[in-house]
Amino acid sequence: MSSPLAVLHPMDVPRYMSVLIVARRAVEELGLQMPDIVPDPEPGRSHSAGEFGRCYFVQGHIQIVLRFQDHTGKWLGPLPDHEVFETLAHELAHLRYGHHKKSFWEYRNVCAAAVSRARFGGRQ
Ligand SMILES: [Zn+2]
Repeated sequence: MSSPLAVLHPMDVPRYMSVLIVARRAVEELGLQMPDIVPDPEPGRSHSAGEFGRCYFVQGHIQIVLRFQDHTGKWLGPLPDHEVFETLAHELAHLRYGHHKKSFWEYRNVCAAAVSRARFGGRQ
């Protein structure tokens, strides 16, 4: 497998690292296994609201979009942090539930709270 950094815009490297750190803290709190988290610029895919990660339901693997590429490979602007971390919470919830039923959304809220604590609850 190639390095995740190969599909990361250079300006997004620090943010990708912060996603990994936040994910590790949240995963520890939630008692989950740390997944592989890889950036995915999703070349050619349009920016559709509320869908910045992939719901693969594959245990232990999360793809997350920090910044899209257009169909020519040109980088677009960075996604806002809140969207990136909302996606992280959504994908963490899929480590336990491989569907979008009510139990998933309840657990997604638990994950979002853990992600928020991981981002803001510790030392600033
Ligand atoms: Zn989903």
